[in-house]
Amino acid sequence: MSVNVSMAAIPAAVTDFIRGSHKLLIDGKWIAPASGKTFFTHNPADGRKLADIAAADAQDVDLAVAAARRAFEDGPWSKMTPATRAKLIWRLADALEAKAEEFAFIETLDNGKPLNDAKVVDLPHSIEVLRYFAGWCTKLNGESISLSNPGTWHAYTMREPVGVVGSITPWNAPLMMAVSKIAPALAAGCTVVLKPAEQTPLTALKLGQLILDVGFPDGVVNILTGFGETAGAAITAHPGIDKVTFTGSTDVGRIIIKAAANDFKRVTLELGGKTPVIVFPDADIDRAIEGAARSIFSNAGQICNAGSRLYAHRDVFDRLVEGVSRRAGEFRVGPGLEASTQMGPVVSQEQLDRISGFIASGKSQGAEVRAGGGRIGTEGYFVEPTVLTGTRPDMDVMQHEIFGPVLCAMSYEEADLDRIAREANSTSYGLGAVLWTRDLSTAHKMARKLKAGTVRVNGGGLDPALPFGGFKQSGWGRELGREGVEAYTELKSVAMAL
Ligand code: NAP
Ligand code: MG
Repeated sequence: MSVNVSMAAIPAAVTDFIRGSHKLLIDGKWIAPASGKTFFTHNPADGRKLADIAAADAQDVDLAVAAARRAFEDGPWSKMTPATRAKLIWRLADALEAKAEEFAFIETLDNGKPLNDAKVVDLPHSIEVLRYFAGWCTKLNGESISLSNPGTWHAYTMREPVGVVGSITPWNAPLMMAVSKIAPALAAGCTVVLKPAEQTPLTALKLGQLILDVGFPDGVVNILTGFGETAGAAITAHPGIDKVTFTGSTDVGRIIIKAAANDFKRVTLELGGKTPVIVFPDADIDRAIEGAARSIFSNAGQICNAGSRLYAHRDVFDRLVEGVSRRAGEFRVGPGLEASTQMGPVVSQEQLDRISGFIASGKSQGAEVRAGGGRIGTEGYFVEPTVLTGTRPDMDVMQHEIFGPVLCAMSYEEADLDRIAREANSTSYGLGAVLWTRDLSTAHKMARKLKAGTVRVNGGGLDPALPFGGFKQSGWGRELGREGVEAYTELKSVAMAL
């Protein structure tokens, strides 16, 4: 970590917001939790207390679900035309854009990520997701269906909103996650009860204020801060919720499926990943090195599709490992508010301990540390960008999502695509896969063989139009794109004898 820090000055509006009293957004009003309980969040850069937050409980969930139900069934929202809904969502995007600087600061203070990342990734993506889904409001069409007795029957389908949606989000990209759940739900005509992660609730609360400011009717979006075991569990079990959409750990995903099974709630799950980065000998190796380093060290590795397993052909393996290890050493780790920071702290003491535990287990099972491997300093939750070699498929570091800046690198012998795909597919996850090759045939063949929701070739980012989700234990369903909004609808068939 650098010693001479030149920290960005926090705008007064941000300090005022963070220090203010934070309540729950229910039925268009900010109200104190029924229990009167609060908890506090930390600034991951120094471990100090950041903000006092209201702790919602089952009673608050009841109120929020009732408000969302009223808004869905009887309120102005239920009668609003799709074009008017689109205008409101677009207005929310404009309001977010106008306050992007404040949101970026709040995200950095709450989550730890570099301010520049918040400004160039989290905010623009959140704004674009809102605008993208605003466009879908007016385009959710059914089809007319050709039946086997033409002329005697007429039939068509239509899409209706699924109803009241419970959304539960994680802490790694708090605003992006909240928006990625709220925007398609609103576009489809649903109402929402959102529970952000306990570690990072602030940008969701600030978004709640913008939702009121731009004129969404009461009860359309309700925001309940609190814990998963209480507020989250009450949402997933609530009979008034029609659909649950969740991003987070595979373990909690499993709990949610069970809770939702009671009344067959619709469920969309975006869970963990263990994305392989496969480098073929013909690849542009310098670009592959940079891409592999960014894929695992961006956001301190706290990205569900972080490229956490590197597979490189033996001819290029040493060059890749040396290159990525050199980049690991160059990555400037520090507080998110410091201008030169490229990697911030991880989100919490719990994550720091979890990542340190994985590195220790890798070492004890025989992995070699080629870069990093330790904590930085004693204040805040800083981990060194880490590269491990000598990792075998059966090791814990290879099977589990570490959710930290830890890369496991392995080589493969010959270019047998089936064998490479088998290794790449050998975890319980299936969220992403990355290929580095200049050979079109290799790229297309591998894209078919990989069991992953998204295959990226030679880079490529996140786009609101591109469906995102996982095979296997990485989830159910897709977010973003057409599939992302259709996931908030029920399809109705109408058949008519002529
Ligand atoms: P988590 O527990 O799955 O948290 C995600 C969200 O689920 C939070 O809002 C959480 O509330 C809530 N939740 C927890 N238990 C719940 C329950 N029983 N019912 C309903 N909601 C519940 O994740 P975590 O513990 O913060 O992180 C642990 C690991 O999960 C990470 O190391 C990483 O591997 C993985 N993870 C993956 C992603 C991803 O994008 N795929 C994101 C975050 C974490 P609380 O605020 O109380 O936890
Ligand atoms: Mg948790």
